Amino acid sequence: MTTAEQKVTLGFEAEVKQLLNLMIHSLYSNKEIFLRELVSNASDAIDKLRFLALTHEALYEGDAELKVRIEFDKANRTISITDNGVGMNREEVQQNIGTIARSGTRKFFESLTGDEAKDSQLIGQFGVGFYSSFIVADKVVLETRKAGHNQSDGVRWESTGEGDYTLETIDRPERGTRVTLHLRADEDEFLDGWKLRSIIRKFSDHISVPILMTKDKVTGDDEEEKATEVEWETINSASALWAKSKEDISDEAYNEFYKHVSHDFQEPWARLHSRVEGTNEYTLLLYVPAHAPFDLWDRDAKRGVRLYVRKVFIMEDTEKLMPRYLRFVRGVIDSDSLPLNVSREILQENKQLEKIRSGAVKKVLGLLEDIAANEPEKYATFWKEFGSVLKEGPIEDFKNRERIAKLLRFASTHTGSDAQTVSLADYLARMPEDQDKIYYITAESYGAAANSPHLEVFRKKGVEVLLLHDRVDEWLVGYLTEYEGKHLQSVAKGNLDLSKLGEDEATDKEQQEKLTEELKPLTERVKTALGDSVSDVRISHRLTESASCLISEDYGLSRTMERIMKAAGQQVPASKPVLEINPGHAIVNHLKHEADEQRFNDLARILFDQAVLSEGGQLDDPSQFVHRINSLLQGLMQ
Ligand code: ADP
Ligand code: MG
Repeated sequence: MTTAEQKVTLGFEAEVKQLLNLMIHSLYSNKEIFLRELVSNASDAIDKLRFLALTHEALYEGDAELKVRIEFDKANRTISITDNGVGMNREEVQQNIGTIARSGTRKFFESLTGDEAKDSQLIGQFGVGFYSSFIVADKVVLETRKAGHNQSDGVRWESTGEGDYTLETIDRPERGTRVTLHLRADEDEFLDGWKLRSIIRKFSDHISVPILMTKDKVTGDDEEEKATEVEWETINSASALWAKSKEDISDEAYNEFYKHVSHDFQEPWARLHSRVEGTNEYTLLLYVPAHAPFDLWDRDAKRGVRLYVRKVFIMEDTEKLMPRYLRFVRGVIDSDSLPLNVSREILQENKQLEKIRSGAVKKVLGLLEDIAANEPEKYATFWKEFGSVLKEGPIEDFKNRERIAKLLRFASTHTGSDAQTVSLADYLARMPEDQDKIYYITAESYGAAANSPHLEVFRKKGVEVLLLHDRVDEWLVGYLTEYEGKHLQSVAKGNLDLSKLGEDEATDKEQQEKLTEELKPLTERVKTALGDSVSDVRISHRLTESASCLISEDYGLSRTMERIMKAAGQQVPASKPVLEINPGHAIVNHLKHEADEQRFNDLARILFDQAVLSEGGQLDDPSQFVHRINSLLQGLMQ
């Protein structure tokens, strides 16, 4: 087979095409970032090779001097970025460069609005990587050969960024990748050594491998002299950023490094740079992003935190380095004490790594605590992005449960807004002395929580209730049952005893018992009418306005949890709710004297159905409900 025969033209995925167009327009004002992206890829490829070569030295092919070179050619109007890293084979080129093999891609495209300013923000969050080449180039050629493979297994990828690309097999003696950009007509400014150097210093100084450019020469026109006199010089500081001392690192350098490890285009929300001394020494340079990435909810997403051993990259696997509830953390952990030739398998159960991980978690929690305490407004922006992830914390990390609980924020009846701004500490601070529980309600939306009939008596008594309306809240309260010795109590569960909370007829114990006794015939009759639908019917002390509500027993699943599970197609253990009826309500009063059996049954059923509806549930038989209501209404009209 000749090389020409092996050349194929392939179409980009539709999404790549769309992304390219959008990116070229929206990132144009920031076009020099292409260099950062290509250098970032080159540096990653070198890191990968260095790791593989720890166990297969032959992969160096006799050349262990790892470096990135940047060249430009004024005559041909090209810039090229060359690395001697791991390289790619044909399938990898197709996979990595021809498709967007990134999770969350579809969601990204769905969230595009057509508004350029907004979309460019989104593009920034998504990260465009290699494709940013097309901002300045109308043709991009990538030539690569994988380390350890034959030189005849080289690959050339070429595209004008307009829908398709070609792939062909080439001879390539050098391992690694060379990307050549053929600049668009107006982009000559980049054909300038000084300009390129200044961009590299600005964006890529932190890259730990040397980035080389040829020295600008002042020699004459002698062609031969030119060819022999090429002299390379390193233009970045080429040392691991995290190993430097804090005073020597500028905010810009920190931020650019963040962009490199996170593939994010925006500045981080916060960072922490810390060195832990002792028998197990390590350095942490960790960041919290300003925005949730598109794959935040993707269980397979692994990117984020990189493990280095004495500056040698070992792996990138957030899950082993951070618990899931901190999966948004990005950055580097560099250990001095792990063995260099450590394999990924060994790392699985490495005690030292365990310690590093738990040390890193403590530091991240410390960072969050710090900002929560000193910059509450800033903390609120974090909470909006990652609050529902952090709520997994008490579920996943028993040891740090108390600390995480302090970081949680909720909506509450006190603020009357769906913004989650109330901490458990705030709640405790406002709590009257005779209140001994932290009250909350769970629901599927803020509206359902805030307007739930279960809150009526709490409103009347002025008792604050936390309004939990995130999916994860249901799980959270299953694990976080106590805070500072105070029990967390659902207002929709069990028998409430609010008698301690101030003098009040409705919650006076004796009064309640009397009423319950008095109305026993009624509750019994309603229970008979509802048959299998309820486990019990009781006189309510929660309701002041609504006629009825449903509650679950203290230790059963909450009603919200049951609905979530049902919606997810899960088996829900058979449990029946308790119907509470409001003795002060006109319908209930009327029922006491309703002699007509059919009407009594209809009204009882309506009380039940209303309670289901008001908690945001669905009726088993909505048409029956409508039918019953209508026959009552018709009764009125006669
Ligand atoms: P990202 O770096 O965020 O993964 P890019 O679009 O920058 O996204 O690159 C896509 C993929 O292409 C990389 O993940 C890598 O697998 C591959 N790649 C890009 N450049 C190189 C290179 N110089 N050497 C080896 N692989 C590369
Ligand atoms: Mg990249």
